Parts: sequence; C-alpha cells; structure tokens
Amino acid sequence: MILYTLRCAHDHHFEQWFDNSSDYDAKKAAGELVCPECGEKHVEKAIMAPSVGKSAAAAPAPACTPMGCGGCQFAGQH
Ligand SMILES: [Zn+2]
Repeated sequence: MILYTLRCAHDHHFEQWFDNSSDYDAKKAAGELVCPECGEKHVEKAIMAPSVGKSAAAAPAPACTPMGCGGCQFAGQH
C-alpha cells in the first residue's frame, strides 16, 4: 500500500491509499479520484517535499572495528 497526497484543481489537498503506483493510474484513468471537499475530478499527485529529517541525514561513516582499523581509509591516522 502506498499513501499519496493528492491535490485537486482547487488546491485542496487530501490523502488516499493505493495498492501501488499503477493502482493510482488506473483509478485516475477511471475517474475514481475525486476531491472530498469539492467533488473535483481533476486530481493530481501533489508534489511532496523531500523529507528532511534524521533518517535522511547523511549516514555516519562506518566506525572502525574495536580490533583496529586495518583497511579503513583512515588507517594510521587515528
Ligand atoms: Zn477540491
């Protein structure tokens, strides 16, 4: 299941679950995507801002093993 944020032609935003992206395409083609606020059928996927959070932050560099750092790119430097 995939949750899409949808936006109608009147700039109403709402969320709807789909089985997958092709399910969205099928429902859109069938005219089953309707804005719950105004009944508008011209509905598009809203552009979602990329999530910027801890999980999206750069992963910390792999720590050297407690045994030492042979093979590590910092070998001999720490
Ligand atoms: Zn609407």
